[in-house]
Formats: sequence, C-alpha cells, structure tokens
Amino acid sequence: MHSVESIITEVIEPKAMEVDRYGVYPRAAMEALGKAGLLGLLSARDVGGRGEGLRAAATMVEQVGTACGSSGMVLCMHFCGAAVIEQHGPRDIREAIAAGRHVTTLALSEAGSRSHFWAPVSTALAVPEEGTVRLDAEKSWATSAGQADSYVWSSKPVEAKGMSTLWLVLGNAHGLSFPVAFDGMGLRGNSSSPIVARDVRVPRSAMLGKDGGGFDIMMGNVLPHFQVLGSACYLGIMEAATRKAAAHVTKTRLLHTGQSLADLATIRAYLARMRMKTDLVRGLIRDTLDALESKREDAQMRVLEVKAAVGELAPEVTELGMRVCGGAAYRKEVGIERHFRDARAVTVMSPTTDLLYDFIGKAMTGMPLFD
Ligand SMILES: Cc1cc2nc3c(=O)[nH]c(=O)nc-3n(C[C@H](O)[C@H](O)[C@H](O)COP(=O)(O)OP(=O)(O)OC[C@H]3O[C@@H](n4cnc5c(N)ncnc54)[C@H](O)[C@@H]3O)c2cc1C
Repeated sequence: MHSVESIITEVIEPKAMEVDRYGVYPRAAMEALGKAGLLGLLSARDVGGRGEGLRAAATMVEQVGTACGSSGMVLCMHFCGAAVIEQHGPRDIREAIAAGRHVTTLALSEAGSRSHFWAPVSTALAVPEEGTVRLDAEKSWATSAGQADSYVWSSKPVEAKGMSTLWLVLGNAHGLSFPVAFDGMGLRGNSSSPIVARDVRVPRSAMLGKDGGGFDIMMGNVLPHFQVLGSACYLGIMEAATRKAAAHVTKTRLLHTGQSLADLATIRAYLARMRMKTDLVRGLIRDTLDALESKREDAQMRVLEVKAAVGELAPEVTELGMRVCGGAAYRKEVGIERHFRDARAVTVMSPTTDLLYDFIGKAMTGMPLFD
C-alpha cells in the first residue's frame, strides 16, 4: 500500500466503526501511513521527507477525515507538531518523522488556562547542576496522549520574558502520566486525554526555538497549520455526511407511492444545502491556502475565518444529514450519526469559535488580538 487512497480503502475505512464504537486509537492507520512515507509529507527532502507543503497536507487530512474523523484528527495534530519540529527540532527526530517512525502531536491546552492555549501556566525550571529543565504541568487535552512518540509542549519561559516556551517532550519521558482515558462524544479514537507532568526532566536542548519564543511559533507556525488542517479534517467529515445522505435518500424507497426519498423536493433542498455549505468550506480552505502561499494581505484574516466558518457549518451540515436520513440516521449502519458526533468538537477545539469571533472582531477594529 503506497497511496493514501489504498490505505483508506484497506485500513482506515474498514476500522472506522470500531475506532468510533470502542474508542480505539487508529494505530493501524498511522502505521500504514508511516510505512508509505506519508507521515513525512511536510518533512524536508534532505531528511528523507516528501518536502510538500500545507496544501498537500490539507488534501490528505481531508481524505482521511472523510473515512474516519478520529484518524483525520490524529493525522492533523501529527502534521501540526511535525511542522514545528521541522523548523526548530533536532535532526534525528526530523528523520524519524520523515521515515514514518515517529508520531507527534501538540500538548498546549492546560487545565489552568483552558482554551487560552497561548498562555500556559505550567512551569519549566532550570536544574543547573544537571543542565536539564524540570517540567511540571497539567495538560487538559492532547490528541494521541499516551500514544504519540513526542509532544510539542508549552510552558512558561525558564528565564526569559514572554508568554511561553515550547519543548520537545518524548512520549516515554519519566514523570508523564495519563490519568483519565478519553471517552468523548465524538472523535472517539483520537485519545485526547489529559497529561500530567511531574518533575519531567528534559535537556535544555529539547527547547524548540528560543526561551520565551513560544508565542511567536504558535502564531506563525502552529496557528496556520492547525486552522487549515483542522478545518480540512472537519471538511472531510462534512463531505462524508453529504455523500452518505445523498446515497441514502437515493436508494430508500416508499413502497406505497413507488417514490424514493430523493423524489421529495424538501429532501432535495436539504441535500442541496449540505452540498453548498460543504463546498463553501472547501472554497474557503483553498482561498486561505492561496492567501498564505502568496502572502496576501488578508492571510491572517482568512486563517482566523476558516475554522470559525467550519465551526458553524460542520455541525449544521451533519445535523442536516440526520434530518434528511430520518430515523435511519440514529442507527450506526448509515454512518451519519458518527459524523454528527465527530463534527461537534470543531467548536470547542481551540481557538474555539467564540474566541475566533473575538479575534476577527478585534482585527477588524484595529485592536491587538492578545493583550
Ligand atoms: C477532540 C479534541 C481534541 C483536542 N486535541 C488537542 C490537542 O491535540 N492539543 C491541545 O493542546 N489541545 C487539544 N484540545 C483542547 C482544545 O484545543 C481546547 O483547549 C479545549 O477543547 C477547550 O475546552 P475548555 O473546556 O477548557 O474551554 P473553556 O476555556 O472552558 O471555554 C468554555 C467556553 O468559553 C468560551 N470562551 C473562553 N474564552 C473566551 C473568550 N475570551 N471570548 C469568548 N469566549 C470565550 C469558549 O469559546 C467556550 O465556548 C482538544 C479538544 C478536543 C475536544
């Protein structure tokens, strides 16, 4: 299996219901993508990667998200972490990511600062006699928690001014624990559990970027990657719901009238709204990518808007799917209710939809986004 399409057909799709029902981490999907060299999509060619950009990653996350939202989100977070490591991390880990041997993720959100991911309250204290740094934290959510080979981790700075510092924390670091298994409403396989760090020692060289430079990396690298790739994952979920709803109403018949559900104009109008809203999101993601690639003046606005729009439209489209497919949608086999549940997470994944509206409003009125 070398292409993402064959991995989706042979590995991801067949396991999607099991991943959802039992909250199984999609390890088989990540292993297959790794073996095919696809986890190194964003890695530079000189470390053995594919040297592709955000557009290619967005296409792949959408494709995977269409088959399985949990796998799409795990892949999304891997690419977000990998993009930071690619820019600031050590060569051996970059090579491992490129070779598909290393899955990473973001561990930014904290119990203390909640959805304000840019403002960690966790600490990083220098241990000069060891040349190490001691990390203590209560991370509230991290996709692939307990499963990833590393975490792109935030803390307060060690000595510098600034809001945060980023670290590469290996998954097997002594002092990490995962107190509660993830048992969420949707994206049930993404293993988005809390992580507690107690006296985790990392070498100072595990710092990603400069001490106090975390905020700039979050805004310049993490935010555009997460906004586009997260949106692409939810676009996949919307696409799946739209296709399944159209297929269901086309084949489902009312025997007493000889009609299909698709013969009802109301049903067709709902389907049309699903298709239109899904395509609106696809268009906005493409325009965001165009804006980023050409460094357009409105690139930052598009980056903020894209996930806010998906935050409204993914729940709407999947809810329409539930309506169009009627009682059948409540059962697992049509597959719509999985997408409906998976889509709900978009509004609460930070930056949450409400935070994004606040940022967009501030940008429109010339106010600083963070004060
Ligand atoms: C499936 C899933 C996967 C995740 N994966 C990761 C991951 O890999 N890495 C990671 O770091 N985090 C991850 N998160 C965490 C996520 O990014 C958020 O931090 C988390 O969902 C916020 O939840 P909370 O309950 O703490 O929000 P709260 O901060 O308690 O927010 C509650 C409500 O208040 C609103 N609110 C808060 N501040 C403002 C404001 N200033 N203006 C207006 N409204 C505001 C919010 O919009 C929200 O509606 C994940 C979350 C989910 C659901």
